[in-house]
Amino acid sequence: MTETYGLYIDGKWEVPAGATFFSTHNPATGEELGKFVASNRADVERAIVSAHRAFKAWRDTPAPKRGQILLRAAEIYRKNKEELGRTVTREMGKILPEGRGDVQEAIDMIEYASGEGRRLLGETVPSELRNKFCLTLRQPKGVVAAITPWNFPTAIPNWKISAALISGNTVVFKPASGTSLCGVKVVQAYEEAGLPGGVLNLVTGPGSVAGDVLVSDPRIKAVSFTGGTDTGRQVYTAAAQHLKYVHLEMGGKNPQIVMDDANLDLALDGLLFGAFGSSGQRCTATSRLLLHQKIYDEFLGRLLDRLKRFRVGNPLEEGVDMGPVASADQERKILSYIEIGQKEGARLLFGGQKLRGPSYDRGYFIAPTVFEARHGMRITKEEIFGPVLSVIKVSDFDEAVRIANDVDYGLSSSIYTRNVNWAFQAMDRLEAGITYINAPTIGAEVQLPFGGIKNTGNGGREAGTTAIDEFTEIKTVFVDFSDRLQKAQIDT
Ligand code: NDP
Repeated sequence: MTETYGLYIDGKWEVPAGATFFSTHNPATGEELGKFVASNRADVERAIVSAHRAFKAWRDTPAPKRGQILLRAAEIYRKNKEELGRTVTREMGKILPEGRGDVQEAIDMIEYASGEGRRLLGETVPSELRNKFCLTLRQPKGVVAAITPWNFPTAIPNWKISAALISGNTVVFKPASGTSLCGVKVVQAYEEAGLPGGVLNLVTGPGSVAGDVLVSDPRIKAVSFTGGTDTGRQVYTAAAQHLKYVHLEMGGKNPQIVMDDANLDLALDGLLFGAFGSSGQRCTATSRLLLHQKIYDEFLGRLLDRLKRFRVGNPLEEGVDMGPVASADQERKILSYIEIGQKEGARLLFGGQKLRGPSYDRGYFIAPTVFEARHGMRITKEEIFGPVLSVIKVSDFDEAVRIANDVDYGLSSSIYTRNVNWAFQAMDRLEAGITYINAPTIGAEVQLPFGGIKNTGNGGREAGTTAIDEFTEIKTVFVDFSDRLQKAQIDT
């Protein structure tokens, strides 16, 4: 019997009377991991009311004190890192070192956010008038919603939750249904850390119900969403009815450029990690390799050699390079893109099929797949979100940049070169929120802003010094100590 997990509302775990349930499963084995409440409108509204009630006291709690509670949560994650990392791996299928990395990123982010408790910086600026101070304060927005995907099931929720909490907001958190167990574990750490009831609430269940209520309810002042571009567009549209602040982080179609002067061993290691880490299911995953014509054959030969030794299997096992994809839906979508690639005339160089056999038959395993493609094919333009790489030959730097930029997304990008001019031109010209020089397209660090342009995002950045922008209002304050009426712009 698997355990049943309730909703977390007002500091209590509850299974509502008459609730319906859904389960999550290990995508490598099919094992059921837990049963969760499919929240209905009334459940979500209770969570919103609870967050609303808790807001005033939390807002008035000194930010350094809020930071101390966050630090305790980070400690609890650290103590449970191995178990949590295994839960990540069991629930969404990334290999165990990456499961642990997911949890480490959550810890890093919470620690970073807790430090903000002693900053939350505003500005002081001069006034044009005498005896007058001008300054800004950061204030929380109110009750915020965190809606998250399944691919970083502890890290992404904590990017949002920790930044929202340190800023003095209360939160209703809705994790991706497929990683609800990780969602429960995310919240349990804050509960154990002593976060007051109502400050963080958890609702599980389908985005079309739970997510939609959050997005549409006027009591939610800001929505922080990470997920697919189509869903993001729906969220943005629904939230616009109430003129809510919405932060969107969405898909990517990230290129790695390899120039003819690159360290090819380094570029290859980076590519394998970037393209096939987490089975290609990272928003920053490398899905296009733009290869200079002079090293094209040699690099491709080395890539295919390495893939012959690439181990796909149970992600909990030592030595496995890549686990399954996260769900039956993911498997269907990725296989359909592989078919599209073949129909478009891309040349399949490696993989291209669902893996079969005793170690694969109960899970969703797809071989790492490499296409030789022409820029403009759908597989080179649309997000696949799986272990499928398109290789495109380029004749020079300018062509590489032009093709890299000719997609609707703009999240991550990378170039391998030893030419300092190309490196700096790439930093300047690649249309993406993130550019790596001589490193793969994946590998964000929490002390830097994270986000993208074009259809990847709507302008905000998570993490780094920008993390709190999403969750604070700027109050401008004028203090006039002249004891007389002074008129800006008029008393010249
Ligand atoms: P989805 O867009 O399907 O889901 C994201 C979240 O939104 C889930 O919690 C989902 O709930 C919820 N949701 C679904 N429908 C609605 C709705 N109508 N209103 C409100 N919420 C809703 O994305 P996936 O979970 O499949 O994640 C994969 C996508 O996320 C990829 O496209 C990837 O690129 C993107 N991503 C982007 C990142 C970035 O930072 N740019 C980072 C990681 C992923 P439910 O699970 O119940 O459907």
